[in-house]
Amino acid sequence: MRSYPDSCQLAVVGGGIGGLAAALAAARAGHRVTLVERAAEFGEIGAGLQLAPNASGALDSLGVLPDVQRTAVEPPRLVMMDALSGHQITELNLRGAAYRERFEHPYLVTHRTDLHAALLAACRAHPAITLFTSHTVTHAEQDDFEVHLHFEETTEVLTAAAVVAADGLHSRLRRALVGDGDPVCSRYVAYRGALPTSRMTGRMSQHAASEAVMVWAGPRMHLVQYPLRRGELYNQVAVFESDRYTPDSDDWGTEAELEERFSGTCSAVRDALPLFSRERRWPLFDRRPIDTWVYGRIALLGDAAHPMLQYLAQGAGQALEDAVALGRALEDLTDPADALAPYAERRRERAARIQTNAHRFGEICHLEGMGATLRNALLGTRSPDDFDDVSWVWTPAPETVPAA
Ligand code: FAD
Repeated sequence: MRSYPDSCQLAVVGGGIGGLAAALAAARAGHRVTLVERAAEFGEIGAGLQLAPNASGALDSLGVLPDVQRTAVEPPRLVMMDALSGHQITELNLRGAAYRERFEHPYLVTHRTDLHAALLAACRAHPAITLFTSHTVTHAEQDDFEVHLHFEETTEVLTAAAVVAADGLHSRLRRALVGDGDPVCSRYVAYRGALPTSRMTGRMSQHAASEAVMVWAGPRMHLVQYPLRRGELYNQVAVFESDRYTPDSDDWGTEAELEERFSGTCSAVRDALPLFSRERRWPLFDRRPIDTWVYGRIALLGDAAHPMLQYLAQGAGQALEDAVALGRALEDLTDPADALAPYAERRRERAARIQTNAHRFGEICHLEGMGATLRNALLGTRSPDDFDDVSWVWTPAPETVPAA
């Protein structure tokens, strides 16, 4: 039987990117942290993540950026293509002088497992952090002084001065505290995975060799491709809206629909389809922003606080910003519960804006007919060094900038 540390100042529920980053930030701010994860082993799924400069800036604040950079790729360009015609719509130059003038940190693409492993290694190396797996939180009870966490696997109770609920999109703690039901399914589904770059042929191998992030936008579908792990792997994400969605069934967003929806795309996109893993599909959810993330001595963080659609590639980035803001709020405090309201106050508005705009950007990406023609014409006039549209997203919030 595992015994918990005598006096756990802060408990973190969930050992995903958000939870590990929160534990690390809190420990670096001088607090003892116990993190509980329901899985038998810590881990992430085998796909890629884009880390815009706000996210890599947060990793810098947490001291893990060099470790992540060891395997990450710094793509030179982010290119938006028309998935039907195969023509380029617009691009952003991610390594030019204009980028470096505007942003302090690099735009990176990384394997999720590499980022997760870097955060986990940093947590394991920190003497103030204790990690438990196979601990599924069922519920929390709290009074004016502490929170008691109960688990599925044991009758032992973990008592903490404050709790950070980083238990993801389907957070049990959020469900109990906020009471806003289930996340909202967008009717879109993703198929994703990374495979050896050596398996790419023809135009796809040229795209892989260019190291660019390629976004192929089409009617109610899109494809994203980019290299991972020093270019050894190529990540692909195919996303489409299902006409067969029903809330009570899993029989939608099927392989047959994937083939059908992508059948009218250009050859470069169609060439990618046979190389997709079909083992698992990810229905895509979000929620509307909420007014408070703090309930007594419990605060929400990451997807538990602000689940968003992935169209701005910011879910993990926002979780990392949350973690750094939490760490800043915890500095010089004895009772970690005192940090929860300031943390949420600093983060809520920005995360809500990104959550809302991620939804909108998905609509722009998936336009059809005249809407798509207008989008392409408008975006086609942009310069690759014009970051005005994305700057507010990619500019880190002040609390994620390392202290001088
Ligand atoms: P999770 O990763 O869901 O972690 C939650 C953890 O809590 C898990 O380990 C889980 O096992 C554990 N847990 C759950 N319940 C319990 C419980 N009761 N007790 C104990 N433990 C529990 N973001 C980006 O920044 N860039 C991208 O390019 C990007 N691309 C994406 C592409 C797709 C297709 C999707 C779906 C998402 C993408 N995201 C991206 C979003 C990003 O993946 C998430 O926002 C991020 O992983 C959320 O991290 P989290 O730690 O908050 O939650």
